[in-house]
Amino acid sequence: MNLIMLGPPGAGKGTQAKRIEEKFGSVQLSTGDMLRAEVASGSELGKMVEGLINSGGLVSDDLIVKMISGRIAQDDCKNGFILDGFPRTIPQADALGEMLAENNCAIDHCIVIEADDDDLVDRITKRFTCADCGAGYNDKFQRPKVENVCDKCGSSNFSRRKDDNEETVRTRLEAYHEQTKPIIAYYAEKGFEKRAQRGNHR
Ligand code: ADP
Repeated sequence: MNLIMLGPPGAGKGTQAKRIEEKFGSVQLSTGDMLRAEVASGSELGKMVEGLINSGGLVSDDLIVKMISGRIAQDDCKNGFILDGFPRTIPQADALGEMLAENNCAIDHCIVIEADDDDLVDRITKRFTCADCGAGYNDKFQRPKVENVCDKCGSSNFSRRKDDNEETVRTRLEAYHEQTKPIIAYYAEKGFEKRAQRGNHR
Protein backbone atom coordinates (compact mmCIF):
# COMPACT_ATOMS: atom_id res chain seq x y z
CA MET A 1 0.00 0.00 0.00
CA ASN A 2 1.40 3.39 -1.05
CA LEU A 3 0.18 6.44 0.85
CA ILE A 4 0.70 10.19 0.98
CA MET A 5 0.28 11.97 4.31
CA LEU A 6 -0.82 15.57 3.81
CA GLY A 7 -1.35 18.27 6.41
CA PRO A 8 0.32 21.17 8.19
CA PRO A 9 3.42 20.85 10.37
CA GLY A 10 2.58 19.37 13.75
CA ALA A 11 -0.68 17.78 12.56
CA GLY A 12 0.63 14.31 13.36
CA LYS A 13 1.67 13.02 9.92
CA GLY A 14 4.83 11.40 11.27
CA THR A 15 3.07 9.86 14.27
CA GLN A 16 0.32 8.32 12.14
CA ALA A 17 2.83 7.23 9.47
CA LYS A 18 4.76 5.30 12.13
CA ARG A 19 1.56 3.59 13.31
CA ILE A 20 0.63 2.63 9.75
CA GLU A 21 4.17 1.36 9.18
CA GLU A 22 3.90 -0.92 12.25
CA LYS A 23 0.46 -2.20 11.30
CA PHE A 24 0.72 -2.59 7.53
CA GLY A 25 4.46 -2.83 6.82
CA SER A 26 4.65 0.07 4.34
CA VAL A 27 7.86 1.99 5.00
CA GLN A 28 7.72 5.60 6.23
CA LEU A 29 9.65 8.01 4.01
CA SER A 30 9.99 11.32 5.85
CA THR A 31 11.82 13.96 3.82
CA GLY A 32 12.24 16.05 7.01
CA ASP A 33 13.96 13.11 8.79
CA MET A 34 16.14 12.49 5.73
CA LEU A 35 17.21 16.15 5.61
CA ARG A 36 17.90 16.25 9.36
CA ALA A 37 20.07 13.12 8.97
CA GLU A 38 22.01 14.92 6.21
CA VAL A 39 22.50 17.95 8.47
CA ALA A 40 23.63 15.73 11.39
CA SER A 41 26.11 13.88 9.17
CA GLY A 42 27.66 17.15 7.96
CA SER A 43 27.25 16.16 4.29
CA GLU A 44 27.37 18.70 1.45
CA LEU A 45 23.60 18.48 1.10
CA GLY A 46 23.22 18.91 4.87
CA LYS A 47 25.36 22.06 4.85
CA MET A 48 23.36 23.43 1.94
CA VAL A 49 19.95 23.00 3.59
CA GLU A 50 20.63 23.61 7.28
CA GLY A 51 19.97 27.37 7.27
CA LEU A 52 16.80 27.00 5.23
CA ILE A 53 15.35 24.33 7.51
CA ASN A 54 16.12 26.38 10.61
CA SER A 55 14.36 29.41 9.16
CA GLY A 56 11.30 27.41 8.08
CA GLY A 57 11.66 27.84 4.31
CA LEU A 58 11.31 25.04 1.79
CA VAL A 59 14.29 23.25 0.27
CA SER A 60 14.40 23.47 -3.54
CA ASP A 61 12.22 21.07 -5.51
CA ASP A 62 15.23 19.75 -7.47
CA LEU A 63 17.15 18.70 -4.37
CA ILE A 64 14.14 17.08 -2.74
CA VAL A 65 13.06 15.24 -5.88
CA LYS A 66 16.58 13.84 -6.37
CA MET A 67 16.72 12.70 -2.74
CA ILE A 68 13.32 10.99 -2.67
CA SER A 69 13.50 9.41 -6.13
CA GLY A 70 16.63 7.49 -5.12
CA ARG A 71 14.85 6.34 -1.96
CA ILE A 72 11.60 5.20 -3.62
CA ALA A 73 13.60 3.06 -6.07
CA GLN A 74 15.12 1.03 -3.18
CA ASP A 75 13.99 -2.53 -2.56
CA ASP A 76 12.29 -1.98 0.82
CA CYS A 77 9.76 0.32 -0.90
CA LYS A 78 8.50 -2.47 -3.14
CA ASN A 79 6.04 -3.60 -0.44
CA GLY A 80 4.67 -0.12 -0.01
CA PHE A 81 5.68 3.32 1.31
CA ILE A 82 4.17 6.21 3.21
CA LEU A 83 5.25 9.63 1.99
CA ASP A 84 5.51 11.99 4.97
CA GLY A 85 6.47 15.58 4.08
CA PHE A 86 6.55 15.02 0.31
CA PRO A 87 5.17 16.25 -2.04
CA ARG A 88 5.11 19.76 -0.58
CA THR A 89 4.65 21.79 -3.79
CA ILE A 90 2.75 21.22 -7.03
CA PRO A 91 6.01 20.73 -9.03
CA GLN A 92 6.99 18.05 -6.47
CA ALA A 93 3.61 16.36 -6.97
CA ASP A 94 4.16 16.39 -10.74
CA ALA A 95 7.66 14.91 -10.27
CA LEU A 96 6.20 12.22 -8.00
CA GLY A 97 3.77 11.25 -10.75
CA GLU A 98 6.69 10.73 -13.14
CA MET A 99 8.67 8.77 -10.53
CA LEU A 100 5.75 6.45 -9.88
CA ALA A 101 5.25 5.80 -13.57
CA GLU A 102 8.97 4.94 -13.92
CA ASN A 103 8.79 2.54 -10.98
CA ASN A 104 5.51 1.05 -12.15
CA CYS A 105 3.54 1.94 -9.05
CA ALA A 106 0.77 4.25 -7.93
CA ILE A 107 -0.57 6.00 -4.84
CA ASP A 108 -3.48 4.13 -3.22
CA HIS A 109 -4.68 6.81 -0.78
CA CYS A 110 -3.92 10.35 0.37
CA ILE A 111 -4.52 10.94 4.07
CA VAL A 112 -5.17 14.56 5.03
CA ILE A 113 -4.87 15.62 8.68
CA GLU A 114 -6.17 19.08 9.55
CA ALA A 115 -5.78 21.28 12.63
CA ASP A 116 -6.01 24.97 13.60
CA ASP A 117 -2.84 27.04 13.25
CA ASP A 118 -2.86 28.20 16.90
CA ASP A 119 -3.21 24.61 18.15
CA LEU A 120 -0.36 23.59 15.85
CA VAL A 121 1.95 26.32 17.19
CA ASP A 122 1.10 25.21 20.73
CA ARG A 123 1.76 21.56 19.94
CA ILE A 124 5.00 22.11 18.05
CA THR A 125 6.66 24.56 20.43
CA LYS A 126 5.99 22.17 23.33
CA ARG A 127 6.98 18.89 21.69
CA PHE A 128 10.15 16.92 22.33
CA THR A 129 11.39 13.42 21.60
CA CYS A 130 13.53 10.76 23.17
CA ALA A 131 16.85 11.06 21.33
CA ASP A 132 17.49 7.33 21.78
CA CYS A 133 14.22 5.66 20.68
CA GLY A 134 12.33 8.52 18.99
CA ALA A 135 9.26 8.38 21.29
CA GLY A 136 7.33 11.67 21.12
CA TYR A 137 6.30 13.80 24.14
CA ASN A 138 4.70 17.18 24.82
CA ASP A 139 5.18 19.54 27.80
CA LYS A 140 1.43 20.09 28.05
CA PHE A 141 -0.35 16.99 26.75
CA GLN A 142 2.03 14.09 27.14
CA ARG A 143 4.83 14.23 29.69
CA PRO A 144 6.88 11.12 30.53
CA LYS A 145 5.29 9.17 33.42
CA VAL A 146 8.49 9.62 35.45
CA GLU A 147 9.99 13.10 35.05
CA ASN A 148 12.92 13.06 32.60
CA VAL A 149 12.74 9.30 31.92
CA CYS A 150 11.48 7.95 28.60
CA ASP A 151 8.42 5.67 29.09
CA LYS A 152 9.54 3.43 26.26
CA CYS A 153 13.29 2.94 26.70
CA GLY A 154 14.24 4.50 30.07
CA SER A 155 16.62 7.04 28.52
CA SER A 156 17.02 10.57 29.91
CA ASN A 157 18.35 11.84 26.62
CA PHE A 158 15.62 14.11 25.20
CA SER A 159 15.86 16.52 22.29
CA ARG A 160 13.92 19.34 20.67
CA ARG A 161 14.06 20.29 17.00
CA LYS A 162 15.86 23.58 16.31
CA ASP A 163 13.05 24.65 13.98
CA ASP A 164 10.32 24.09 16.61
CA ASN A 165 10.27 27.72 17.84
CA GLU A 166 7.26 30.02 17.33
CA GLU A 167 8.82 32.26 14.65
CA THR A 168 9.94 29.34 12.48
CA VAL A 169 6.66 27.50 13.00
CA ARG A 170 4.71 30.54 11.73
CA THR A 171 6.95 30.61 8.61
CA ARG A 172 6.42 26.84 8.11
CA LEU A 173 2.65 27.33 8.42
CA GLU A 174 2.77 30.11 5.83
CA ALA A 175 4.70 27.84 3.44
CA TYR A 176 2.10 25.13 4.09
CA HIS A 177 -0.90 27.35 3.30
CA GLU A 178 0.69 28.88 0.19
CA GLN A 179 2.53 25.96 -1.36
CA THR A 180 1.40 22.65 0.11
CA LYS A 181 -2.34 22.98 0.79
CA PRO A 182 -3.18 23.32 -2.95
CA ILE A 183 -1.95 19.74 -3.34
CA ILE A 184 -5.13 18.50 -1.63
CA ALA A 185 -7.25 19.90 -4.49
CA TYR A 186 -4.67 18.60 -7.00
CA TYR A 187 -5.22 15.01 -5.84
CA ALA A 188 -8.99 15.49 -5.51
CA GLU A 189 -9.01 16.47 -9.19
CA LYS A 190 -7.07 13.33 -9.98
CA GLY A 191 -10.01 11.34 -8.67
CA PHE A 192 -9.09 10.52 -5.07
CA GLU A 193 -12.39 10.07 -3.30
CA LYS A 194 -13.09 12.34 -0.33
CA ARG A 195 -14.09 10.64 2.92
CA ALA A 196 -14.18 12.74 6.06
CA GLN A 197 -13.68 11.62 9.61
CA ARG A 198 -13.79 14.03 12.52
CA GLY A 199 -11.73 13.50 15.62
CA ASN A 200 -10.61 15.40 18.65
CA HIS A 201 -7.32 13.73 19.26
CA ARG A 202 -4.37 15.52 20.83
P1 ADP B 1 7.11 19.66 9.60
O1 ADP B 1 6.10 18.89 8.79
O2 ADP B 1 6.99 19.45 11.08
O3 ADP B 1 7.20 21.14 9.27
P2 ADP B 1 9.35 18.19 8.36
O4 ADP B 1 10.18 17.35 9.26
O5 ADP B 1 8.47 17.51 7.37
O6 ADP B 1 8.58 19.19 9.31
O7 ADP B 1 10.29 19.19 7.53
C1 ADP B 1 11.22 20.04 8.16
C2 ADP B 1 11.81 21.00 7.15
O8 ADP B 1 12.50 20.27 6.13
C3 ADP B 1 10.82 21.87 6.39
O9 ADP B 1 10.46 23.04 7.11
C4 ADP B 1 11.59 22.18 5.10
O10 ADP B 1 12.57 23.17 5.33
C5 ADP B 1 12.31 20.88 4.84
N1 ADP B 1 11.53 19.94 3.97
C6 ADP B 1 11.05 18.71 4.33
N2 ADP B 1 10.41 18.13 3.29
C7 ADP B 1 10.47 19.02 2.26
C8 ADP B 1 9.96 19.02 0.94
N3 ADP B 1 9.25 17.99 0.44
N4 ADP B 1 10.21 20.11 0.16
C9 ADP B 1 10.92 21.16 0.62
N5 ADP B 1 11.41 21.24 1.87
C10 ADP B 1 11.19 20.18 2.69
